[in-house]
Amino acid sequence: MRPDGSTVKRTSSGPTPTAPVVVAPTTEWSSRECPSCGHEPSTREESAQLRADLSVLGLHPDPDNPGSVVAGRHCRTCPRRRVVEVECTRCGDGPTVTGDLAEDSTPGSVAYPARRWLVAVGRSTAPELVCPEH
Ligand SMILES: [Zn+2]
Ligand SMILES: [Zn+2]
Repeated sequence: MRPDGSTVKRTSSGPTPTAPVVVAPTTEWSSRECPSCGHEPSTREESAQLRADLSVLGLHPDPDNPGSVVAGRHCRTCPRRRVVEVECTRCGDGPTVTGDLAEDSTPGSVAYPARRWLVAVGRSTAPELVCPEH
């Protein structure tokens, strides 16, 4: 039995959002450049690095939908203030949270909107963060 997460502290991000969580279908990235900042790799190494970076989803606040998050793909040169990894504690697979969400998150305690997203995609967030594989 697992606790239902009710003891996890809520962050001070306003009233509980009621909008349904929208999980966008994961689309395969096929272009050469970063979809977020347009950075284009100039070497094979950079290209490989970019693909690795873009394989990780980055969650950030949805500007049109307070309390929700949108998932995007980012390279390491994308302008981001702060990044917190919210990966599975067992296999290390998982997205990152960025921007205001990261300000409210630590690796062990993810901001509430991002936690809703994680649950919506089948992850368990309490007592520890694990992906659907476990
Ligand atoms: Zn980028
Ligand atoms: Zn896992």
